[in-house]
Amino acid sequence: MTDTAAPPVFDPSWVRSDPYPQVIAGTEVGEGTRMPLVNPGTGVEVGSWLEATDAEVDRAIAAARKSFDEGTWRRRPPARRAEVLERAAQAIRTRVPELIGLDCVSTGKVFLGGIGYDGYEAVNAFLGAAATIREAAGEVREAAFPPGLFPGDGPRILSIRNREPVGVVAELLPWNAPLFTGSERIAGALAAGCSIVAKPSEESPASFVELAGILREAGLPEGVFNVVLGRGETVGDRLIRDPRVDLVSVTGSVETGTRIYEIAASTMKRVNLELGGKAPVVVFADADLDAVATWAMLAAFNNMGEVCVAGTRLLVEATAYDDVVAAVAGAASGLPIGDQFDARTFIGPLVNAEHADRVRGFVDRAVNGGGATLVGGGTVPDGLNGAFVAPTVLGDLDAGAEIEQHEVFGPVIAAHRFATEEEALARANSTQYGLSASVFTGNIERAFRFADRLVAGNVQINHHYSADSHVPRGTPRRKSGTGLAGVGAYQAPKSIDLNLG
Ligand code: NAP
Repeated sequence: MTDTAAPPVFDPSWVRSDPYPQVIAGTEVGEGTRMPLVNPGTGVEVGSWLEATDAEVDRAIAAARKSFDEGTWRRRPPARRAEVLERAAQAIRTRVPELIGLDCVSTGKVFLGGIGYDGYEAVNAFLGAAATIREAAGEVREAAFPPGLFPGDGPRILSIRNREPVGVVAELLPWNAPLFTGSERIAGALAAGCSIVAKPSEESPASFVELAGILREAGLPEGVFNVVLGRGETVGDRLIRDPRVDLVSVTGSVETGTRIYEIAASTMKRVNLELGGKAPVVVFADADLDAVATWAMLAAFNNMGEVCVAGTRLLVEATAYDDVVAAVAGAASGLPIGDQFDARTFIGPLVNAEHADRVRGFVDRAVNGGGATLVGGGTVPDGLNGAFVAPTVLGDLDAGAEIEQHEVFGPVIAAHRFATEEEALARANSTQYGLSASVFTGNIERAFRFADRLVAGNVQINHHYSADSHVPRGTPRRKSGTGLAGVGAYQAPKSIDLNLG
């Protein structure tokens, strides 16, 4: 957008007046209890959705199973599957403001940022998955039995290794980037040839119901993509226990992932877990410190810190610590806080007041009894409700402090100082998480040495956040999950050996 272009405006008519339904075998249905869709910034009910009944969950799984077993989608040649995904990408592109608006109105996500990042990445996810299957190739090798088992060299074996879709996927999704994260997962699963029952978060069901319509119009056969709405402990639980589901894919917290992993083990389902993080932002004194202040601020406060890869631990070399932390706190204090649809807003409401209370609890415990110093940050303007939390910078945390060890999922930085590279590394690697990390230094050898030793699936040097999903991502370490990324996460290799005689 240029400086002169008018910012997009949220249109309340994008929210359906009827409750959002389930989408089963290509048809919208709904018999369950009506649940409210609330704008966290105003507390006003803006729409509603229907919780899936047991029978609806059952029918959704049956539809996915039937479509997979009949092969209507998985047997389509990859290029034909790619065409559907490409058409879906184009349709999403034309409806980005509406789809992102639905996410923003129910989660507090800031509209302009959501359009620029989440909207772009949702389109990118479908185009990227389509490109992957257009290019995908298996492996062919020649083999033979060990010598001496047969006269001569024995039969020649041609071994073909291909990748099959895993089967029926239960896709459980979070609320912090519903369309973006959901599109990454769904596009990968569809590209692989899987059939899906997706359960968006109860906080953000609307964009996924619309996505189902987009996929249907793009030519996806009925039953391949089904959406059921409801809570994790009811609807989600039924999905993960059902024997007709082959793969459970969870994007969520470590607590949820752990619970689901345990349950899925009893039926030996495959499980992909993309879970929480506590990314360190490690700053050496030889870095470009002006740039660091901006990156560190963005790392922690983008999307109100409700980001799995948010850089919430700021580790700064002692000689630069005071300047860097003061600069980050100064930048934080100027971030506009307000309505998520106001084009000036950087910090909108958190997903709900209960979550905001949880975030404030972490800060209170860190400052009152946890030894942390409140360095600075912003102030919530008068008139805003309890879902708003000002960006906050805490300093001089003790090693192992609660707020250093747990994902807060709010706009809070915990800063620490270090004296040596070894100390920085030990502290950076000192949590249960291993999703993402960044290191800032002017010394390229140190940057690589440090990146090599960081326990994280994704490491950025002199910036934070992966640029876009055009580049492949690493896999999570430690309790951040087990997930593979992209199309491969939904495939199972199969080898077929042919006796050539
Ligand atoms: P969450 O509470 O763990 O929920 C994730 C999904 O799992 C939701 O759809 C939830 O349903 C469902 N669920 C919860 N308990 C369940 C159970 N017992 N059985 C079956 N399903 C269950 O996570 P969230 O609060 O929505 O999202 C924030 C978390 O996601 C953060 O930890 C963040 O780091 C993580 N995340 C990770 C990535 C990544 O790529 N690594 C990306 C984005 C977010 P309901 O919530 O509707 O009840």
